[in-house]
Amino acid sequence: MRSATITIHQDALAHNLQVIKDKTQPTTKVLAMVKADAYGHGVAAAVPALMDADGFGVACMSEALAVQDVLAQLKRTKPVVLIEGVFSYDEWLTAIEQDFGCVIHQDNQLEWALQSLPNADSFCRTIWLKYNTGMCRLGFDTNNIIQKAKQLIQAGYRVILTTHFACADDAQHPLNQVQIERFNHALQAIQAFAPDTQGSLCNSAGIFNFTAHHHHWVRAGIALYGSKPIAQHSATALGLLPAMTLSAKIMAIHQLHAGDSVGYGALWQADKPYQIGVVSIGYGDGYPRVVTGASVAITDTDGVVHSCAILGRVAMDMFMVDIDGLAIEVGAPVVLWGDTPHIDEIASCAGTIGYELMCRLTQRPNRHIEMLSSNA
Ligand SMILES: *Cc1c(COP(=O)(O)O)cnc(C)c1O
Repeated sequence: MRSATITIHQDALAHNLQVIKDKTQPTTKVLAMVKADAYGHGVAAAVPALMDADGFGVACMSEALAVQDVLAQLKRTKPVVLIEGVFSYDEWLTAIEQDFGCVIHQDNQLEWALQSLPNADSFCRTIWLKYNTGMCRLGFDTNNIIQKAKQLIQAGYRVILTTHFACADDAQHPLNQVQIERFNHALQAIQAFAPDTQGSLCNSAGIFNFTAHHHHWVRAGIALYGSKPIAQHSATALGLLPAMTLSAKIMAIHQLHAGDSVGYGALWQADKPYQIGVVSIGYGDGYPRVVTGASVAITDTDGVVHSCAILGRVAMDMFMVDIDGLAIEVGAPVVLWGDTPHIDEIASCAGTIGYELMCRLTQRPNRHIEMLSSNA
């Protein structure tokens, strides 16, 4: 069988959630963000490992229903929040029926909510009201956020005021303080007439950089998966473990002569006799074609792991690596990202971030779940 494999480490997910919980006050709840199929990890793999979270956040209704299915299989219930809210009145009715929490960020969603009220004791009866404090993506502006909160509260809703940082990964960026001040000001103004109003400000980066501003709910995404949330520290330095290993195998080995060139475009040329290996993974699996200076980790016949450079261009199904002078055979295991190299190293070789590499994996690789040890 061709070997291109995504392995999900449930223990690492559970560990990373605990790292986040250790950063937050016991009164702060953690919404585990599992949108985009749990950042490419698969909700079926991620949700069971994250059951210590207080709820799950998704982007849309189909994702919420997928999480609900996994929870049903586990015979458990947990709040599920649609972080962009519903896209139609029909979806709003489904949200009521399924008791999903919903963001309201614009007037059509507000009108649907005023048209049909969920039961008073339901989770759905609490609206995640989105305030645009400076990112200019979603939410009501400063001049009408209080008015929108009033309308909802007068209609019988509870409110969680929420906003999203634009630059939380860079603690020094001046926009952070602007967003924090706007948010705290509006939250206080709403609490003046509705004291049970809650707040939710921080994503992963905010959790680490703005510990004084966690409020009632934090929304943790990338840190759960073990990629770096903030600029000044690596994921490892923050105690986060990679939740995914992407691996393949050496599928062929060649002895090159001086002057031979490798791969599409003949971009790399041997200046002496060389041994190279062909790795059974490519951009058709989601490994980025645009990497420059990336390496992979290959285990030799003695079990020693070597860092080996990619030679030439990554193709759809394969690429070549430098294994000159190493005791590496066909079938040798190759790690593309995991403990080493770390996904954040490969992301920087590809001019992107760990988030994108996780999410752009395709359906082709084999998938394997390394189960929670507490369930073993
Ligand atoms: C995705 C998302 C998060 C999580 O962000 P991370 O940077 O992955 O922690 C938090 N809040 C909102 C609104 C999101 O869309």
